[in-house]
Amino acid sequence: MSDRCYNFSAGPAALPEPVLKQAQKDLWNFDGSGMGVCELSHRGKEYDRILEEAIADCREVGNVPDDWHVLFMQGGATMQFACMPANFSGEGKTTDYIDTGEWARKAMEEAQRFPGTVNCAFSGQGENYNRLPKDSELKTTEGAAYLQFCSNNTIMGTEFKRVPKAAAGVPIIRDASSDMYSRPIDFSELDMIYASAQKNLGPSGCALVLIKDSFLQKSDDKHIATMMSYKVMQKKESRPNTPNTFAVYLMGQVFKWIKAEGGLKAIEKYNEEKIAPLYDFIDGSDFFIPHAVTEDRSIMNASFRTPNEELDKLFIKQAEAKGLKTLAGHRSIGGMRASVYNAFPAKGITALVDFMKQFEHENAG
Ligand code: PLP
Repeated sequence: MSDRCYNFSAGPAALPEPVLKQAQKDLWNFDGSGMGVCELSHRGKEYDRILEEAIADCREVGNVPDDWHVLFMQGGATMQFACMPANFSGEGKTTDYIDTGEWARKAMEEAQRFPGTVNCAFSGQGENYNRLPKDSELKTTEGAAYLQFCSNNTIMGTEFKRVPKAAAGVPIIRDASSDMYSRPIDFSELDMIYASAQKNLGPSGCALVLIKDSFLQKSDDKHIATMMSYKVMQKKESRPNTPNTFAVYLMGQVFKWIKAEGGLKAIEKYNEEKIAPLYDFIDGSDFFIPHAVTEDRSIMNASFRTPNEELDKLFIKQAEAKGLKTLAGHRSIGGMRASVYNAFPAKGITALVDFMKQFEHENAG
């Protein structure tokens, strides 16, 4: 019997088994160096190789264009919420935000702490964020410094399958924290992508940032902290200070795992096939109620509930006892949420659906 449960956490989330097993070994002795991976100097030759390989594998996996930089930054995605306006906004400038959920709104609110005008191009708050906007609903700004959108709304379980339309020539930034490398990326429509690591990539506290050189050159970083400057991060190879070496190492291992799994097309197919039985079951049930409208739902996070809060609580408790853990929905919408990132096994969905069938049978009125 396995000593691991099915971990449906939204993040930090389940990591691939081969990655964790390799990390266990490397924590003790990295590649015969006699030093554990967390004990290596960030200026030493072993870490040079870890960083170089992580960048090369990140590029290969994502098919990242040559004129884009790969950066590893600290402070998670929330730090990126501040870095964007700090680098690219300012007095007399406007930035556009699409408010499709809790994290999208937090990014916008962070920008409001900085000089410059923040324009909310669309807000789904009034509809409890259960759908995404059509391009015709967006009120974007001509000449904006950038438009930011969140491609996967972790809490609501909605996901953009396309890049929303900004005003002509306006750079587009994508928060891909909860769907990074879950499917191929079309870089032609984007200028920057960032993702907190703790869902599809590695441990928390770190963010992967992919940024187009022409956009990076627009950054005005004279009056901002060194650690927040994209130009400094690029020049200093993501190590202006002592970086989170373990996070970079682990992300590197995850990129290698994605390659071994057949790359992003294969991962996308696996993710789509993996979550389908859950959505099929919810669609056919008169008992479970999905949060997101069908056409916008995510392949990473499924949010749903039962007819009442008492039953939600009972569901979560009984599921936990069966080894189906961390299924409670976010406090802002309640109910349940199954987060099933790249590393989450299909067997876990089968176990969840079996349990849902049984629960419905026992509790439907
Ligand atoms: N953006 C999205 C879409 C998220 O889901 C999260 C966290 O769950 C964040 C940003 C914030 O990430 P962090 O906690 O790394 O700052």
